[in-house]
Amino acid sequence: MPVRPALDTAREKWYKKDRRERSGPVKRYENMMEGFVEEVLDIMGDSLGCCMCEQCRNDVAAHALNQLPPRYVVSHMGGAISKADTMRIQHLTDVRTAVLQAAQVVKEHPRH
Ligand SMILES: [Zn+2]
Repeated sequence: MPVRPALDTAREKWYKKDRRERSGPVKRYENMMEGFVEEVLDIMGDSLGCCMCEQCRNDVAAHALNQLPPRYVVSHMGGAISKADTMRIQHLTDVRTAVLQAAQVVKEHPRH
């Protein structure tokens, strides 16, 4: 399972946010679970046996995130990245389980 791409994506997201919000105070906190859920969705994708259209994918992500404890970190250049790496490993099993359960719910009750 690839480790680096997810972390690079998380870091890119922070930098993009910084640029977008330059006019006001910069929001540097983020629920790392969101990135983990997206990553698991990317990896498991079709194997979830659930429709993966935009609506269903977002429903699965939201459902999974509501089952998972939020894990906020303050991004400080490299600092939060190693922390994210540790958290990612700690929570990967929980995230997978939550995504699987969420996919089951969405499969049974699709909103389209
Ligand atoms: Zn769908």
